[in-house]
Amino acid sequence: MPELPEVETICQALKPLLEGQSFLKIQANRPDLRYPLPVNMETVLSHKLISLISRRAKYLLLDFSHGLTLIWHLGMSGRVIIENLNALSLNSGPHDHVVFITSNNYKITFRDPRRFGFLLLYPTNQLKSLHPFKTLGPEPLGDIPLGVSVLHAALKRRTISIKNALLDQRIIAGLGNIYASEALWQARLSPRRGANTLRLKETKILLIEIQNVLRRAISAGGSTLRDYAQPNGDTGYFQYSFNVYKREHLLCNHCHFTPITRIVQSGRATYYCDKCQQ
Ligand SMILES: [Zn+2]
Repeated sequence: MPELPEVETICQALKPLLEGQSFLKIQANRPDLRYPLPVNMETVLSHKLISLISRRAKYLLLDFSHGLTLIWHLGMSGRVIIENLNALSLNSGPHDHVVFITSNNYKITFRDPRRFGFLLLYPTNQLKSLHPFKTLGPEPLGDIPLGVSVLHAALKRRTISIKNALLDQRIIAGLGNIYASEALWQARLSPRRGANTLRLKETKILLIEIQNVLRRAISAGGSTLRDYAQPNGDTGYFQYSFNVYKREHLLCNHCHFTPITRIVQSGRATYYCDKCQQ
């Protein structure tokens, strides 16, 4: 499932291509994904200037100069494929649900086999009052990142496990199952600990490790992008080596003698080292 680093990578790839351009054509190959596609999307958005591409949590936001924002969520399996129309052979598949043709000769395809992704269109000035944007917590990275005292205070109010607290988008925006497990391993904190038991010093280490894990994943995504973006760039996922995620029974990369344990917390798999993480 695409998490913050994957969405940020796509955002960084689309930004130089789309800002200042427009869509000449928007082809929707079905009426709905998780939700119905925006009504008259092509009529409303084509030939309109794209003024800003940004990311909030796991949402891509395409702002248009006539005051509308296209909210794009990749769901469980969504990929964004960027191709130059001059490429010799263009990529296409049965799960290509929406295809955008840009004024600078690019084809941008939203491919989503499981169709949990969605596109929604709202006035830009209403976004902050919309669910879920109105309750999203601070970003872990960015211009004004989440501070340690804010995170510590938010965790102090929660009796749930620290792993589940990290998935709560009201506490920290954009962190998902994979990178929450990875950051807790890096910080040597047990995912089973109560969120309100973390000391300030532990919270500080955890926040640093969350930021490190996300930055490393974004730069891994960036390098994959540089390697594969042209001419048939698939920017949906990238290779990133995990220390605990999906490494059940394999030896911990830190202590080298404890097999990684898998537990289920609130229906989501958590991976950790029982020895290193306290
Ligand atoms: Zn270990």
